[in-house]
Amino acid sequence: MRAMVLERQGEPLRAAELPDPEPGPGQVVLSVRACGVCRTDLHIVDGDLTEPKLPLVLGHQIVGTVTGAGEGAERFAPGDRVGVPWLGWTCGECRYCTSGRENLCERARFTGYDVDGGYAELAVADERFCFPIPDGYPDLQAAPLLCAGLIGYRALRLVGDAERIGFYGFGASAHILCQVAVHQGRRVFAFTREGDAETQEFARRLGAEWAGASGERPPEELDGAIVFAPVGPLMVEALKASARGARVISAGIHMSEIPSFSYDLLWEERVLGSVANLTRRDGEEFIDLAPRVPVRTEVTTYPLEDADRALDDIRTGRLEGAAVLRVSG
Ligand SMILES: [Zn+2]
Ligand SMILES: [Zn+2]
Repeated sequence: MRAMVLERQGEPLRAAELPDPEPGPGQVVLSVRACGVCRTDLHIVDGDLTEPKLPLVLGHQIVGTVTGAGEGAERFAPGDRVGVPWLGWTCGECRYCTSGRENLCERARFTGYDVDGGYAELAVADERFCFPIPDGYPDLQAAPLLCAGLIGYRALRLVGDAERIGFYGFGASAHILCQVAVHQGRRVFAFTREGDAETQEFARRLGAEWAGASGERPPEELDGAIVFAPVGPLMVEALKASARGARVISAGIHMSEIPSFSYDLLWEERVLGSVANLTRRDGEEFIDLAPRVPVRTEVTTYPLEDADRALDDIRTGRLEGAAVLRVSG
């Protein structure tokens, strides 16, 4: 099969012909139709995340059709369209798994990090961690739901019932969550890089009532904020813009250092937190909610061989919405 392979961190991906993967017990084989490109992939390539399997096929927003199954895998039929997210396997036994927090499982395996992902024509996945894809979503539009959507949704839950919510960094995840938040009756304030009028306009078009630069004060205080950009100082900026009791949540897997700040900013029950990974329950809830909003994803597509260009466009913020590799179909 054709695949884009990361041989060493810090180097570009290499186009390669790999042997077709064989499904193990409980696994399905998918013919990959589309795979979303996530900022986490960039952190893996750049070496911000330090323990990937190498060589590695990246990609944890896989939309594919089932073409085969390993021993005991019976959940899906050949031809079913399924999605594969970041959470690829959990132990099911540890204190986190047995208390509804499998996202924190210490032995968890992640797609496109510990096991090969979807920057390839074929992928294998544990069927228990796959999701059926809602019918209304074409392959390319469905892919960003699987991480940008799912983990963003978990972050939105951690913000609680904040009415005035700030999104710092308006990329793939925020463009989905903005629609969900507006649907839930919240008021969205979008923060972008300074001078990025295009992204600010994009945010307003998706329902944000205000959009500005990340250093600006919004017209009202925020009851909560999600920081999507991997930029530590934004956590402090969000606190400065926050009302009493606000929760400020980092949605990324990696972030530059958070500068020290005066306790006054945290006082009055403000909370700083992070979101890690997803549980299958998050996924099921979000996949059920997305068509009811309805969430519409805006995607820029790239051929599989142009995965490096897609990663670079995320790095520079050159695209609006989500980047997706078109693999087949
Ligand atoms: Zn566990
Ligand atoms: Zn991701």
